[in-house]
Amino acid sequence: MDYQWYPGHMTKARRMMQENMALIDLLIELTDARAPQSGRNPDIDTLAKGKSRIIVLNKADLADSALTESWRAHFEAEGILTAAVDSRKGSGVRQLKPLIDRACEEKIERNRRRGIVNRPVRAMIAGIPNVGKSTFINSFAGKAVARTGDKPGVTKGKQWIRLNKNVELLDTPGILWPKFDDQVIGMRLAILGSIRDEITDEGELAVWMIRYLMDAYPAALEERYGIGADESEGSSNPAACVLEKIALRRGCLKAGGEADLAKASKVLIDDFRSGRLGRITLERP
Ligand code: GDP
Repeated sequence: MDYQWYPGHMTKARRMMQENMALIDLLIELTDARAPQSGRNPDIDTLAKGKSRIIVLNKADLADSALTESWRAHFEAEGILTAAVDSRKGSGVRQLKPLIDRACEEKIERNRRRGIVNRPVRAMIAGIPNVGKSTFINSFAGKAVARTGDKPGVTKGKQWIRLNKNVELLDTPGILWPKFDDQVIGMRLAILGSIRDEITDEGELAVWMIRYLMDAYPAALEERYGIGADESEGSSNPAACVLEKIALRRGCLKAGGEADLAKASKVLIDDFRSGRLGRITLERP
């Protein structure tokens, strides 16, 4: 899905989030395991004030698992429970239910002390576009669900999915707007495909990506394209030199036979997004 974040979109998303936030006890925030911080919304802490929290690092199948663990430790140190999942295959999704119970223990206990026994804890999934919210909801709640109807007066127009006797999940995910006023965050989000490719020039994205790979994952360039670390030595612009080599090795050529850098950039970004470059995380805690 293409998203361009005009102020109007943002205002609407924010209003929806505020409205839904008033209905829930627990926020399950989805972020991309390949850029867990850039893929979050910086206003989320304010929006979710006073709510129980879980951060789900989605697309963990595409991310560097050692860094996924570092990110989990980072968020857990802030007092937020975490899970790493691959929603497409469903792996890791099962750990969510006990995690939700844990996150809501206090709330359920408080209710019980007040004599409220049949009021389920309510949760919502939220995240920026393309992070995998629909896939996650399907995988997490797809089968075992009894979708409850509208509850007049209380949750007009909202559908809830009953997860177990204690927990209900809002059927539609909350959309968070990414914030990419920082250029590096913008780069990461564009590489993930969370913001429109048109925002950033593809060649610029590819060169940024190559620089990052040369520094953090040099073996990926070697394994995928056969480009060794020494091949761009001496070049005044090693990343551009690598991009040209990718073009030549992948047969991305213009009519005259010269390297088609735009096409090579697409190949590289595509290879990253699909996992063909290996498991790569774009930022560390
Ligand atoms: P939404 O906009 O947040 O609802 O995102 P979608 O659920 O539509 O997912 C966006 C894309 O990411 C789709 O192509 C999904 O197949 C893919 N996707 C979602 N979750 C995962 C995951 O855990 N791993 C991988 N590899 N792809 C995923």
